Amino acid sequence: MAAELIISCECGFGTGTWDDGNPYILDPDKLHLPRSKQKKYVYHPSLEAMCAIGNDVPYICLSCCHEFTVDNMKPRTKCTKCKSEDIVDICKLRGRICPKCKIHTLRVCGGAIS
Ligand SMILES: [Zn+2]
Ligand SMILES: [Zn+2]
Repeated sequence: MAAELIISCECGFGTGTWDDGNPYILDPDKLHLPRSKQKKYVYHPSLEAMCAIGNDVPYICLSCCHEFTVDNMKPRTKCTKCKSEDIVDICKLRGRICPKCKIHTLRVCGGAIS
């Protein structure tokens, strides 16, 4: 089961994600393509989601607010945009200082459940 998380700040900053990220399988028909093109995202509820071999986890950079995904099979430690190491799993933003205004604490609320 996946739950949607909605992150927001008083300054207007906001983002959202699913708490189980973006699970994927590698499409056997595309093995000749670069790895990033072999990925096929699978979502709950589906049988394929049980076979997911990796997960593109949504991250945000606390330095520049850039949002990107980190493949848990090929973890990265730096922002894809500004190369800062100050990146965090969006699901773990609860209680963090907002990366945009750097004043308020982020609120996390639950949205839809699939
Ligand atoms: Zn950045
Ligand atoms: Zn803010």
